[in-house]
Amino acid sequence: MDFVFKRTYRGPLRAVILDWAGTTMDYGCFAPAVVFIEVFKRQGVEITIAEAREPMGAHKKVHIRAISKIPRVAQAWQEIKGQPCTEEDVEAMFQAFVPLQLDCLADYADLIPGTLEACADFRERGLKIGSTTGYTGEMMKLLKDEAAKRGYVPDSSVCATDVPAGRPHPWMCLQNAFHLEIYPMEAIVKVGDTLPDISEGLNAGMWTIGLAVTGNEFGMTEAEVAAMDAAGYEEQRDKAYGRMAQTGAHYVVDSIADVSPLLDQINARLAAGEQP
Ligand SMILES: [Mg+2]
Repeated sequence: MDFVFKRTYRGPLRAVILDWAGTTMDYGCFAPAVVFIEVFKRQGVEITIAEAREPMGAHKKVHIRAISKIPRVAQAWQEIKGQPCTEEDVEAMFQAFVPLQLDCLADYADLIPGTLEACADFRERGLKIGSTTGYTGEMMKLLKDEAAKRGYVPDSSVCATDVPAGRPHPWMCLQNAFHLEIYPMEAIVKVGDTLPDISEGLNAGMWTIGLAVTGNEFGMTEAEVAAMDAAGYEEQRDKAYGRMAQTGAHYVVDSIADVSPLLDQINARLAAGEQP
């Protein structure tokens, strides 16, 4: 046969799937970072905030394992403990992590500026709002209540413990699509502040938007970002944009407040027959 006929979705976007920490709440994504530092400290191994942040976005146990495998951390662990960090050590640190994280989560639950306005715009466009996170179900229950008190209630929430594997695997996004009864995946856009957020969306066959400034890539409070000098800010911003673009993000913007205009662009690309 000389010709193959191919079906292409040309309709508009139908849903957005938002990350939590660093995307809609917890400007700078601090809540997990400070607890990762604490659980390693309790083992006698000091880690830096940069090391604590490196695997951000993953299931929290996967994240602890990933920190333990950073060469500098692995070497420090070996020197201090006289043996490598084992799976039992990772499990013990995760068990210590859970109550510590639950204790301080509410302190980091304020919404990132622009979240409510962006969500109002998504709803006006007729989009459903889903969400994914590396937090466990127990943590998410607490965070969802805090978010609701602040006026943010997504239509669907799936966390890393609800699926066989968290990011960068696509399962949380696919589970959201199922909950929201939305298809095809080309009609959904993923928004998040970490590289695994981007990979998760791409692996699910979705459009992806990276948020460079309000989350893990900057790792600063809103006040700290505002206090940066122009050159330092530009340098950090360029670095974050580059890392997210390299991971394959379709778009990178500063914060959730910048997402809405991109939805028009994605709709135009879909209408022209383009796929993510
Ligand atoms: Mg995040």
